[in-house]
Amino acid sequence: MENKMEKNKEQEEFIKLYSFDQKTYLEIEEEMNIKRKDVQKLYEKTREEREAIQNIRNKFKGKRKEDFNDNFRDFYDWYQSKKQKCGYCAISQEELYSLFREDQKLPLNDAIKRSSGTLEIERKDSTENSYDKKNIILACPLCNNAKSNLIDENDWRNIFVKPMREYYKKILGKDLEYKLISIDV
Ligand SMILES: [Zn+2]
Repeated sequence: MENKMEKNKEQEEFIKLYSFDQKTYLEIEEEMNIKRKDVQKLYEKTREEREAIQNIRNKFKGKRKEDFNDNFRDFYDWYQSKKQKCGYCAISQEELYSLFREDQKLPLNDAIKRSSGTLEIERKDSTENSYDKKNIILACPLCNNAKSNLIDENDWRNIFVKPMREYYKKILGKDLEYKLISIDV
């Protein structure tokens, strides 16, 4: 038991240095006082977590970076603190994966731009070029793409969210898991 806890601590330290501080292998060897082969082992063991963090880092660029004072940890914590579902139609991340990855009901023609069906960063008021935390929510690729910079938040919610949910219901073959009333943005 003690060993296992020790190990998790090591993995945590590795994730911090590798994924957040973006240290090199050499720097990690020195900071953790371990050998290269142990660094490689940690790299392999933490694959899933590293990839999840990288997915979020891919969204951290340009004005977003600027508005989060170039602090990726802050951006990451914000992203993780959100319910992992669209702030408009309420489709969940799991449901999106099933459409974008497993069933391929929404085959991607621009896999990099659409982040393989991960929730995207949406500016509620897109006339404000601001990624201040008050102005951003997580949104599914379809809501984010369709709302674009042209439709305002209230009109999107009042007019377009209902048919979007119907569309998802059709392709998912079931109602979306969350009721709109439970959306916490
Ligand atoms: Zn949506």
